[in-house]
Amino acid sequence: MTNTDLVGVGAYAYPSAPVSLTVTLAVDGEWVQTDVQLGGNHWNRFGVALEAVTADEVIVELAWHGDVDVSLWGLAAGPLELPDALVDDVPVSELNKTHLAPETFYLVQDVALGLDLDEEESTIFTEVPGETVTLKKCSYCQRMLPVDSDRLGTLAFHKHNAKPTKHQNECRACKKWRINDSFNPLRTTDQLHESSLITRERRLFLRDPERLQQYKKREGAGLKSQIWERFGRQCFYCGKRLELTEVQLDHTRPLAYLWPIDEFATCLCAVHNNQKTDKFPVDFYNDHQLRELSQITGLPYTELTAKAVNQDELERIRLDIVTFAREWEPRTFAATARKVRELMPHVDLFEELKAADEYVHAELVDALAKRPLGVQGL
Ligand SMILES: [Zn+2]
Ligand SMILES: [Zn+2]
Repeated sequence: MTNTDLVGVGAYAYPSAPVSLTVTLAVDGEWVQTDVQLGGNHWNRFGVALEAVTADEVIVELAWHGDVDVSLWGLAAGPLELPDALVDDVPVSELNKTHLAPETFYLVQDVALGLDLDEEESTIFTEVPGETVTLKKCSYCQRMLPVDSDRLGTLAFHKHNAKPTKHQNECRACKKWRINDSFNPLRTTDQLHESSLITRERRLFLRDPERLQQYKKREGAGLKSQIWERFGRQCFYCGKRLELTEVQLDHTRPLAYLWPIDEFATCLCAVHNNQKTDKFPVDFYNDHQLRELSQITGLPYTELTAKAVNQDELERIRLDIVTFAREWEPRTFAATARKVRELMPHVDLFEELKAADEYVHAELVDALAKRPLGVQGL
């Protein structure tokens, strides 16, 4: 399971001469095709993504003309698992911008060829050693990604002359999406995935995707554009003017405390959405902002200054706790139990599970012991 409805392909390519490469990505009947101009005798980068509800079959076709050898590294494709900052509102067109692809897809690109080769269709591919590629670790997502010391800043990292490697510590994608996220500690790719998995499960539990769809059906325009207009097309926190594609919908009352996305959402820029994350309004805004937010959203001021778990949704969990304990990722259960206990110390979801089904409880505790909740602030 991934946290987006996007499928992407990405790779790094080294042709023996300049060449035009046609990249086709086909996913269950949807497809996208792009021509990439590759420079000769050095490494190039490319990637393309499309929206696809299912991804049962992902096919990548690379085609070019002429007597040109092309070495490939990190050829990978599949459903995209993106950091939280990108999940909600970054459109596929933004991800497809050539200066961000393929790094921004956060594909696992740890081998030269991360796909099965179709022997019958492939007339030109052979699995032989190609050109050498130099890799550097991103200090943020911890991925090993290509750099070219002869052509600084052309591959997965921007140029930075003051650094010993002459490149920035963070890959392009982390630089763009996460570097301003000063509230988050360093995370490994694994932890990124862990955190976004929990977010994804929470959103599904609260039916966020259906809510957004129903909203669009009912109102014509999507919730995002409505909230954007309501907030005067600017970030509520810093007042920065926002294009619709830059808008990030914040749940206002945090998702982590079981509040779904609804018409009380707040319009924020990427930086401030990242900073607010799971905080309650009262822990993020000053009193003046809280009063203004109450006016704009229509949520009572007392509601905005309170810290509460959404009781209706909590009740849903408690009534069917064994099912949730079975179906959720164990860490989603643990994170939810922790958030509930934080505000309601007398409610212990683990104890309630144990009382309901000792066996399921034991299994859950066992699974958590093997893989404890690693990230703070979930
Ligand atoms: Zn990175
Ligand atoms: Zn802002």
